[in-house]
Amino acid sequence: MLNIKKINTYYGNIHVLKDVSIEVNEGEIVTLIGANGAGKTTTLMSISGLAPPRSGEIFFLGTPIQDLAPNKIVSLGISQVPEGRRIFPYLTVMENLDMGAFLRKDRDGIKEDLDYIFDLFPIIAERRNQAGGTLSGGEQQMLAISRALMARPRLMLLDEPSMGLAPIIIKQIFDIIKKINTENKTTIFLVAQNANLALKVSHRGYVMENGRITIADSSNRLISNKQVQEAYLGGV
Ligand code: ATP
Repeated sequence: MLNIKKINTYYGNIHVLKDVSIEVNEGEIVTLIGANGAGKTTTLMSISGLAPPRSGEIFFLGTPIQDLAPNKIVSLGISQVPEGRRIFPYLTVMENLDMGAFLRKDRDGIKEDLDYIFDLFPIIAERRNQAGGTLSGGEQQMLAISRALMARPRLMLLDEPSMGLAPIIIKQIFDIIKKINTENKTTIFLVAQNANLALKVSHRGYVMENGRITIADSSNRLISNKQVQEAYLGGV
């Protein structure tokens, strides 16, 4: 579904992503793990068109997308849940959700997706008339995921979904991610700080160090890899 081939991404003169190649197959959850500053967020931004690579190619369902504008990439079926949620704090929950469906015109489909989201996150339905900024951190993460789902993505990009959340909420969020993948048939590529839980729900994973992919393997094998355990799983 997503085929990233040897991309190189820069911020000015800073060479951040170095010959990064990643594949995500339809139906999978794939996790990218790595230390702070390794280039994980930049990888997501290269896919979504916010930090386009200077060289290399990115194919989505066979179409090269590395030179497309972000709105075009969304309309092809990729939506991103940014790090730190970034919901619109002064808009209501409902208005935040409407923003996710901004590029769509199929009213019936939008209504269907809204019903699905309210079923998935009853708390979001309950809070629909409240300003987004008044929600708890966990609820804001749920809203950010919901807003991305409102674009009816084929591929969802999730940046650090557990950032700053309590362990019990993190568990709920990962359960929901798994549910969205299996029930809603959404393919997921996620960047994770909480690598333990992320690898438990995902099929495969990549390890990134200093802008390069150093390991690519099944999640099970990554979980039992000594080097990965010591560096990213708290030595568990
Ligand atoms: P974290 O887990 O801390 O978010 P990350 O793996 O997602 O880290 P990136 O945010 O992709 O890492 O950053 C990769 C490198 O690019 C870092 O050295 C960072 O300082 C640098 N960087 C990120 N954004 C910019 C920017 N807008 N301008 C210049 N350098 C940047």
